[in-house]
Amino acid sequence: MKTGKLIVISGPSGVGKGTVVKELMRRHDKARFSVSATTREIRPGEVDGVNYYFISRERFEQLIAEDALLEHAVYVGNYYGTPEAKVNEQLAAGYDVILEIEVQGALQVKKRRPDAVLIFITAPSFEELARRLRGRGDTAEDKVLARLETARWECQLAKDYDYIVVNDTVDAVTERILTIIAAEDYRADRCEEVIKEAD
Ligand code: 5GP
Repeated sequence: MKTGKLIVISGPSGVGKGTVVKELMRRHDKARFSVSATTREIRPGEVDGVNYYFISRERFEQLIAEDALLEHAVYVGNYYGTPEAKVNEQLAAGYDVILEIEVQGALQVKKRRPDAVLIFITAPSFEELARRLRGRGDTAEDKVLARLETARWECQLAKDYDYIVVNDTVDAVTERILTIIAAEDYRADRCEEVIKEAD
């Protein structure tokens, strides 16, 4: 059986990543979502072990010391990280594993696992991103401006991703990501059997 692919998805706050990833999981039957560990507070509606593993700082630092995380980063004062064992288990079972993580962590994954596929989701424009952030209605204007500033920095780092896709509609962007994932199966470095047979 072929091992699965490691797919990393990032994008600025407000771009609609969560919705896109949900739609992607619904439409890709051989994908598994990687549940991250975090030290941030649980939000209403979230479930421990489903959205995240909500753990203490001490426990998180223990995981770092044990080298149990594929990557980790501090984002808005909290730790976030990807437990590595589970990812490896699911890849070995042939599943594509989807990581929805921020840019610093994504670039660490690329260093550690050069075969990972990094996909960055952007908004059609910064004006549109600002409109979406304000449209949420629950965010004060200074926070909106801070998020837009972070988004600019994140978009600059996106040049080191493998793919950049625009989120104009959820359906269209999901289709683009599915196309990328499908095409990745045919990369020469994933087709070792074909090459071995020709030897
Ligand atoms: P939130 O707290 O809103 O759920 O997530 C904040 C940010 O952390 C988002 O950009 C999300 O993609 C990112 N994130 C979630 N899990 C991980 C992780 O395991 N590692 C890293 N580096 N970022 C993560």
